[in-house]
Order: sequence, then C-alpha cells, then structure tokens
Amino acid sequence: MIYDVIVLGGGPVGCFAARLLAEKGLSTLVVEEHEKIGLPARCTGLIGDEAFRCFLLPEEAVERSVTSLCAFGPLGTSVQYAADCVLARVVNRPHFDALLADSARRCGAQIMTGSKVSAVSASSNDCAIAIEGGKIFRSRSAIIASGGRSNLTAKLGLGRLKHFIWGAQAEVAFADAEEVEVYVGRTISPGSFAWVVPASPGRARVGLLSYDHPRERFFSLLNDHRIKPRLRETPTPVIAPIPMGSLSRTVSNGVVVVGEAAGQVKTTTGGGVYFGLLCANIAVDVLTQALEEDDLSSERLSVYDERWRALLSKEIEAGLRLRRFARYLSDEAVASLMNFAFNDEIMGRSAPFFSFDWHAQIISRLAKEMPRRLLARGIKALSAS
Ligand SMILES: Cc1cc2nc3c(=O)[nH]c(=O)nc-3n(C[C@H](O)[C@H](O)[C@H](O)COP(=O)(O)OP(=O)(O)OC[C@H]3O[C@@H](n4cnc5c(N)ncnc54)[C@H](O)[C@@H]3O)c2cc1C
Repeated sequence: MIYDVIVLGGGPVGCFAARLLAEKGLSTLVVEEHEKIGLPARCTGLIGDEAFRCFLLPEEAVERSVTSLCAFGPLGTSVQYAADCVLARVVNRPHFDALLADSARRCGAQIMTGSKVSAVSASSNDCAIAIEGGKIFRSRSAIIASGGRSNLTAKLGLGRLKHFIWGAQAEVAFADAEEVEVYVGRTISPGSFAWVVPASPGRARVGLLSYDHPRERFFSLLNDHRIKPRLRETPTPVIAPIPMGSLSRTVSNGVVVVGEAAGQVKTTTGGGVYFGLLCANIAVDVLTQALEEDDLSSERLSVYDERWRALLSKEIEAGLRLRRFARYLSDEAVASLMNFAFNDEIMGRSAPFFSFDWHAQIISRLAKEMPRRLLARGIKALSAS
C-alpha cells in the first residue's frame, strides 16, 4: 500500500496531524518508536486555554483549570496574578496523547507503535520510510513530528536544531499546591525559572528549566524552604532538552517538519504543545492542497514554512531576546525587574497585552516602559558575559 502521508512520531503534534489528515479522507500512517503512545512522560501538561478553544482537544485528560499564578523572586519578592477567566489547563500528558491517538484512529488513521524509523528518503513523488528490523513503508509524502531530539531532519538534509535548554521535572505527592507557582533567581536557575504545577489532588509537577546542571539544580530546588516542607516523597526527575530556536528549513521534497522537531516552541517558557498544534494545522492544510494538485515539490510546500514563520517567528525571537537579557542579571536586578513589572500602574497599562500563549507584545511593551537604569543593568550584564 502507498499511503498519502506517513507521520513520523506519535507525540501530540503527530497524532493531531494524523487526525486532521484522516478527517480529510487521506490514508495516513503514524509510526511511533515507543510501545505506548504518551510514554515516557516528559511534560508538565500546562496548555493555554486558547488551544482548547481553537481545537477539539481531549477534555477528559484535563486535571485542573488554572486561573491564577504566583511568582516568587529573589530577596523575598513575590507577586500574584489572578485572572477573571481560565488561563490554562493542566493535562495528564500520557492520557492526552493517548486520547489524541484514539481520535486519529477513529477517523481512520493507522497507528503503529514499537516501530523506530531508522531511515527516510523522500522525493516529490515518493517517500520510503525504513523501520528498524527491516520493514519499509511507502507514501506520497511525510510529516516529521519526531520531537526535538530526533536526527530524522538531519537524515533528510534539513539540518539539526542547534540550541537547547534543559527541562528537569518530576511528579510528586505534594501538599498545599493550589495554584501555579513560578520561582526565579540565580540560586534557582540563572536567567530561567522553576515551577510547581498542581496536578491531580495531592500531587504536583515540580521542575525547572536551566542552561546547565539540570539534575543538581533540580535537587537543590527540592531543598528550597518553600518546597521541601510540602514534598511527600523524594522523586527522580526526567531530564530532557527543549529547543530554543527553530530549524532554518522545515520543508523538502515530499516532507514537512512540525512541532518540537521544527523548534516550534515558546522560547519564554519551553511550552511546545500549542505552537506545535497550530503548525500541524497549517501543515495539513498545505499538504492536502499539494496532494490534490499532485505537486509535492519543496517549492510548493514552502508555503507551509512561510505561513508558520509569519505566525510564530516574532514570538520565538522575542523569547530568545528576553532570555539573553535575563540570563546574566543579578538577583537584585531580577527583584527590581519584578517590582517594576508587577507594579499596579504598569500592570494596569500592560494588562491588555497579557496572554498566556503570546508573549512578544508584552515583552516589547515592558521593554518600552522599563526604567533606563534597569535596561542598562541588563545590557551591562549581557556585555560582561
Ligand atoms: C520537563 C518538560 C516540561 C514541559 N512542559 C510543557 C508544558 O507544560 N506545556 C507544553 O506545552 N509543553 C511542555 N513541554 C514541551 C513539550 O513536552 C513538547 O513541546 C511537546 O511534547 C512536543 O510535541 P511533539 O509531538 O512535537 O514532540 P514529542 O512529544 O517529543 O513527540 C515526538 C514523538 O516522536 C517519537 N520519535 C522520535 N524519533 C522517532 C523515530 N526515529 N521513530 C519513531 N518515532 C520517533 C518519540 O518517541 C515521540 O513519541 C515540556 C518539556 C519538558 C522537557
């Protein structure tokens, strides 16, 4: 059989793309290396409410709705943000992914687990996908949705993601976790942040993003006086890299790259599910038309590259600029920055620009409002780094 599309990788983005393709009547196969969709879990499961409003997503996997968050800075600073609407949902990622796969199956997609893709070759009229063990599957086109650590894009001459940050996290029995908590400061993770996200009752996901020593920083977070007394077990973290920046090309003849494999990630927070879903939606739209026209050349598919970058490049770049600025700031500067950003007057003026998922506008707004001396401290720290 020659499939219309083979999707390489059965994460949330691959399964979602497969569902959209199958809904359009295209013969679709998903190939996933792990035996079970959704496992191993490496995600906090915090997904902005906008994703649930935009797309039909599995509500059954939602553990909580988030309406407020509390940020704890260095030198005793802390601020609370409470919204009058749901900002985000906390999902159980293994369950979320498995339900997305089920819905793709129900629409007609085939999902083959326990099958690692070892080689891919693609031209504008034929793709050959080799599975470890020797089987080869053929299709008219392929979607690479194999996540940020995969080497499949390099095998197709599309290069590799270059820059990463580490995520380290564990789900634990945890007391008194009622809202999302964010921790910043050099002792936590210079230029980055840690979190406590309440999950099912009595449990929370505790983790951090860091540029270095993720394991050591994770265990030192567990010893923090605001965390340790509430921990009810000593966890082992999962540690995984998250791309910070996108691939320079995300199409070639017969192929498009989506999700974390393309670097479609919020560079501020490391969240990748919603941006990946948005891009999968664009990819399916472009691929469907290209299949109808029987033109799967990279020139035809480059519309996908243009459309997703028009949507996300500004966000990805703004997050990277913020990270470069924050990375070398002293704790005093971070505390002053928090006091500045969360002051009532600035909050009032910035509120219309706040979005759980879209950060470029609020970043540029705050940069414009920032007192010159604070801006100068950031620039000085950056040039001394
Ligand atoms: C600690 C941590 C916390 C996070 N928290 C959040 C969060 O709260 N919210 C959020 O939005 N994002 C979060 N993320 C990021 C999020 O997990 C990813 O952005 C998201 O999973 C990307 O989805 P994807 O489908 O593109 O890739 P993946 O989820 O990585 O799926 C890719 C799939 O491809 C499979 N695969 C890879 N290579 C092959 C191969 N050769 N053959 C067959 N199959 C293959 C993999 O097994 C995997 O199942 C977090 C990440 C980390 C590390």
